[in-house]
Amino acid sequence: MIATEAVSQPIFEELERKLSQTEAITKYMLAGRATFTLRSVATQKRYTFKVTKAKKNLRFANAPVSWFVSRMYGPDNETCFRYIGMLNAQPKDAQWMLRTTRNSAETQVSVPVMAFNFMLKQLQALPALTPGLEFWHSGRCGRCGKKLTVPESIERGLGPECAGKQ
Ligand SMILES: [Zn+2]
Repeated sequence: MIATEAVSQPIFEELERKLSQTEAITKYMLAGRATFTLRSVATQKRYTFKVTKAKKNLRFANAPVSWFVSRMYGPDNETCFRYIGMLNAQPKDAQWMLRTTRNSAETQVSVPVMAFNFMLKQLQALPALTPGLEFWHSGRCGRCGKKLTVPESIERGLGPECAGKQ
């Protein structure tokens, strides 16, 4: 289980980019190593999350894919990510939600978790996020974590090679 992970550099650099189409957001978020910030326009609150695809357990090859979700705490120059829960089901499932577990740094009803699940509902139901909710990717490839440089890669949050993979 992921506990804490120290990060020495600021996550957000000049290339972070807002995504609003829910299909593009879903693809970015589930790519494997996605870091992004959710921002509420009304409250100006922002939460930064990392969604990491769990390695497949070969003993349970047919088990569904899952993702670890962690949240960034602390100021930019002294940040750490703490595990907050799991995403198990796929976007098409009615059960798709971030679920906190025993090791989670948040509860199921804490604001960051509810904000995350509010976003998931929109990703399932709408072609684009509502104007009150903003999704900013980190400027790094959502699949491999490399810094994005080409404008069209920055636009989708995935590098040229990773964009074609699933
Ligand atoms: Zn990549």
